[in-house]
Amino acid sequence: MSFPSLAVNQEWWNRLLFKSYWAVFLFSIASECLYLLVTDVPAEKFIVLYIIRPTVIMGGILLLTHICMRFLPKWHDYILITAATLLALTACFIHSSMVYLLFCLFFPVLVSIFYFQLKKLLYAIANIGIAYSSLLVFDAAFRGKASFASILTMGFILITYCIVGFGILARGKEILTHLRSSYESNQELLVRTILMDKLAKTDALTETYNHMAYHEYKDHLVEQADNGRLTLHLAILDIDNFKKVNDTYGHKAGDTVLRKVSAIARSKTGSNDFIARYGGEEFVILFTEKTFQEAFDLTEDIRKEIASTTHEALSGLRVTVSIGLNAYVPGMGKEALFQLADTALYRAKHTGKNRTVIAAAEEALASEFA
Ligand code: GH3
Ligand code: MG
Ligand code: MG
Repeated sequence: MSFPSLAVNQEWWNRLLFKSYWAVFLFSIASECLYLLVTDVPAEKFIVLYIIRPTVIMGGILLLTHICMRFLPKWHDYILITAATLLALTACFIHSSMVYLLFCLFFPVLVSIFYFQLKKLLYAIANIGIAYSSLLVFDAAFRGKASFASILTMGFILITYCIVGFGILARGKEILTHLRSSYESNQELLVRTILMDKLAKTDALTETYNHMAYHEYKDHLVEQADNGRLTLHLAILDIDNFKKVNDTYGHKAGDTVLRKVSAIARSKTGSNDFIARYGGEEFVILFTEKTFQEAFDLTEDIRKEIASTTHEALSGLRVTVSIGLNAYVPGMGKEALFQLADTALYRAKHTGKNRTVIAAAEEALASEFA
């Protein structure tokens, strides 16, 4: 999974930004109305010059911005920077005598910093350059009121602000790089932890779960079964006469048979079942969410499939397994769950092998009252 893009939620922020333009517009018109109460300029002239004129120009800019945003969805960022420049330019143009309003020209740079992209900052600076030059060239009133010194000073102040803009961007990039690398190393660590965890719980030879994992899952499942949240059955499966297999065909052939037997058991069990190599040539299967009949049928299915499979490593011979099956009764406890299945397995071994023996219910009860 890669680092989340900076563009995340950008459209939401752009909409908010555009709404804030409307707010600035309404606020500026409201301030002009208030100013009407104290100004020396005749009311009619003031209303035309400072209320109607900016309302028409700024309202027009905002409507145009709205239309452009609607039809140019890929250019929202640039449209908003341009709109910020035009609004700032209008404020400077309307009040040519208020040289300090030139500070408004910093507005597009502020907006561009929002995107944390150098090309957008450069675009905003180019906007400021053009806006400032056009004020100087086309606005005679502004040229007449502002002294050369103040024009120069304002120019320098704007350049300084742009440099600060670069600084903010560089710092932001540095923090982003740092965040990205720590995010990636965290991801790597997470993947490694998952792999290590899987490795620690898996039996290398048979690729089933191992003894430790069995105990972990069994404890958890018994707890759930005690609370009545699931049904639980345990089957212990032991390969018959396996010592003889090893003695006759060698350990390597024995390993191949172990792998095959576990593969058959795995292929028969589903996602609700848990299979582990308990040790040596013994496997345990925890069946969850099954009736006793379902668990028994599945156990028998596994046993029959193993018994009918021939092994190349044993010159075409077959192996069989004996199985002890026990149904968990809430309150039975994890020790009794295993003990009763093991006793059933013992009985299977002593009554001819290659069979499934069910743990006797009376034994379960006896252990409950022991
Ligand atoms: P039973 O039918 O009573 O279970 O007899 P058995 O011979 O299967 O049982 P026993 O406990 O006497 O022997 C188990 C054998 O399993 C002994 C050991 O060499 C073999 N074994 C245990 N782990 C492995 C293994 O990882 N690989 C191989 N090849 N053999 C193993
Ligand atoms: Mg054994
Ligand atoms: Mg055995």
